[in-house]
Amino acid sequence: FTHHFLVCAGLGCPRNEEIIAALRSVIAERGLQEQISVRKVGCMGLCALGPIVLVQPEEIFYQAVTPEDAEDLVASLGKAPLQRLFLPSDLPFFKRQHKNVLALSGRIDPESVDDYLAAGGYLAVVQALTEMRPSDVIRRVQESGLRGRGGAGYPTGLKWATVAKATGEKKYLICNADEGDPGAFMDRSILESTPHAVLEGMIIAAYAVGATSGYIYVRAEYPLAVKRLKLAIREAERLNFLGHAVCGSSLDLDIQLRLGAGAFVCGEETALIQSVEGKRGIPRPRPPYPAEQGLWGRPTLINNVETYANVPPIIAHGPEKLAALGTEQSKGTKVFALTGKIRNSGLIEVPMGMSLREIVFDIGGGIPGGHALKAVQTGGPSGGCIPAEHLDTPVSFESLRALGSIMGSGGMIVIDETTNMVDIVKYFMEFSMDESCGQCTPCRVGTAQIHHLLTLFQQSRATLLDLAKLEALCDLVKNTSLCGLGQSAPNPVLSTLRYFRQEYLDRIVAHP
Ligand code: SF4
Repeated sequence: FTHHFLVCAGLGCPRNEEIIAALRSVIAERGLQEQISVRKVGCMGLCALGPIVLVQPEEIFYQAVTPEDAEDLVASLGKAPLQRLFLPSDLPFFKRQHKNVLALSGRIDPESVDDYLAAGGYLAVVQALTEMRPSDVIRRVQESGLRGRGGAGYPTGLKWATVAKATGEKKYLICNADEGDPGAFMDRSILESTPHAVLEGMIIAAYAVGATSGYIYVRAEYPLAVKRLKLAIREAERLNFLGHAVCGSSLDLDIQLRLGAGAFVCGEETALIQSVEGKRGIPRPRPPYPAEQGLWGRPTLINNVETYANVPPIIAHGPEKLAALGTEQSKGTKVFALTGKIRNSGLIEVPMGMSLREIVFDIGGGIPGGHALKAVQTGGPSGGCIPAEHLDTPVSFESLRALGSIMGSGGMIVIDETTNMVDIVKYFMEFSMDESCGQCTPCRVGTAQIHHLLTLFQQSRATLLDLAKLEALCDLVKNTSLCGLGQSAPNPVLSTLRYFRQEYLDRIVAHP
């Protein structure tokens, strides 16, 4: 082939099947099947301007492509790009990112294991299983400084070492793909775009910790991710990356899917384990931790999608590459779903330590409609709102926590001056209230009470006493709830009380 059309086939790009069919039809009419290929690929990130089509080898991006553009696109090959659709590849959106986990996203066909293999896929598995001892693999992961990308930021190598040391004839590993934060679609995109990369990370992890059965707990609301994962598992089994004596090594491993029914609390690891076991997904107290007593009481390693996807490059290229990126305590890159009042909404990957300003204004293209930025919400319903005056904060686990928010799994919602913070916070509290499993009183009753108080503020019917009650309740729910859902549910309220208190005071009635 002299040219390739790469068509984004993520859920965010509508009509992609029609675009592919139209391009193939035009190419066939002109008898150019030997010269031009059309391939569906994963998400290219710039969802706001989709459907995106990339022309190789020129690396020309086209935006908002329709099937009706097929004639012009084929005719333009080897000539000047179509200006009305052209997106220069040196746009800050593309240039300022550092793609590690997303390196193959938008470059390969997610449903083709041959594409993944041709791009160096599964080499890390072969390398780990044939040249390294399990302890060497764990040491590499520890040296990279990788921390869990699901939210807590626990050191991945340390977790692996704990499971490896745990005694038991049978060990399990789980991939937590129960992404549920409003506005978050990082894991969905990774699974839809490079499902084999996640499998590869899991296989390496299983070898390192001694696990022989794995589960991917994925939301049933992600049908495309489920379809591509099923296909990827079948292909990996066919090529002996799963099954008996993987790649001729001592590792026997099977991986199955478990579909979650949409309960946000099942993203909490002990609730997730109950759900995989076929029970109602409710959290239990820790310890014992899953690393010692997890699935069916056996030692279990749980990491999320992005964490596993970080592993193959660590093995293939060495831990130094990841360790060289980021801040002192937050190494590597982070994938964010950039949404809200932002021009370039979509999926991005940046080195840890990049400032919020660079993310919002350089990569994100700023705020549409001439409005000013008011805050950036990170961490979903467990996170907080960071005001515009802290835009130069480098994004890392530590800095976001110091500002009263969290990194979370990577949801990043941009808020402009037209939005009232009480409205935003009430939305998140309603989410936490609805998703509370109801097991413990502070969370079950407390989130409902906080929601009620926020309604009073929203309707400008609150009093100063309500403000005091709101603060006391947030404190109580945060400190006495059993699991992370309840413990972090007050965070959006607390961070807005800290930075946007006047918006609450403005809604207090003068004479109750
Ligand atoms: Fe359930 Fe909330 Fe208690 Fe967690 S904090 S166990 S979600 S009631």
